[in-house]
Amino acid sequence: MTQWFTETLHDGVAQALTIDRLLYRQKTDIQDLIIFDNRVFGRVLALDGVVQLTTGDEFVYHEMIAHVPLLAHGRARRVLIIGGGDGGTLRRCLEHPVDRVTMVEIDRSVVDLCREQFPEVCGNAFDDPRLDLVIADGAAFVRDTSDRFDVIIIDSTDPIGPGRVLFTAEFYADCRRCLTPGGLLVNQAGVPAVQGSELTDITTALRTAFADVAAYMAVVPTYYGGIMTLGWASDDPGLRRTDEATLADRAAASGISGRYYSPAVHVGSLALPPWIGALISA
Ligand code: SAM
Repeated sequence: MTQWFTETLHDGVAQALTIDRLLYRQKTDIQDLIIFDNRVFGRVLALDGVVQLTTGDEFVYHEMIAHVPLLAHGRARRVLIIGGGDGGTLRRCLEHPVDRVTMVEIDRSVVDLCREQFPEVCGNAFDDPRLDLVIADGAAFVRDTSDRFDVIIIDSTDPIGPGRVLFTAEFYADCRRCLTPGGLLVNQAGVPAVQGSELTDITTALRTAFADVAAYMAVVPTYYGGIMTLGWASDDPGLRRTDEATLADRAAASGISGRYYSPAVHVGSLALPPWIGALISA
């Protein structure tokens, strides 16, 4: 009999994927983790009943959450990733000429299992000498650290369970304190067709700490509901206007080429359809 994984994130709608081979299921100290193979999207990781990544479409999310801020900034040497235990964002960040990437992940099991079960997602990123891996709550880390970063990437779960603290104004204020002048923060901001208030709440909270707040888009098929958004926050509005030719020069200099990311897609991703723009209008 066909076994189905049915996502539980939204009220009133759900996506379902066949569990063609169950590889792992465990309630860690932090969250409920399942890994299985699906005939359409490949290997799937879900936490607390919510799809986090599939090998079939992870490139969209990881390229957009890493290459967009790093190429818009253009001179980032120190990067902070909060969450991101699967290593996909880390791998894309390490493709850039960065000196150090600090990754703060709350759940060691996610890192250990993803290294084992999703080797093509993280590659050798966890062995890179430029990585500082910290197993801790990201909110506590930014509250207490004296380190400074040029780019902060919040690659979090949704605002439920351990991820909830990563969506507060207090957390964003601490992130801003940890950014170097002209630094840039981006975050996972949900799928507005089914989580519209989430995007509004995130941008409202980001505005309490940053002068220039926006969002950009990507389409990740297994994040149910169409266009997903990523939040954008900086005190430098110029970063958002980095033109396609400059991005292309920077990408070429770093040898960055994407399956989803391109300089043209980057520029276009910041042009929001009016209905999404309305959700973030101040
Ligand atoms: N691409 C994903 C998405 O949008 O669904 C996010 C993937 S990544 C696996 C999310 C990670 O955030 C998880 O490994 C989870 O353990 C981590 N996380 C959740 N809350 C956290 C917190 N407070 N501090 C640090 N990491 C956290």
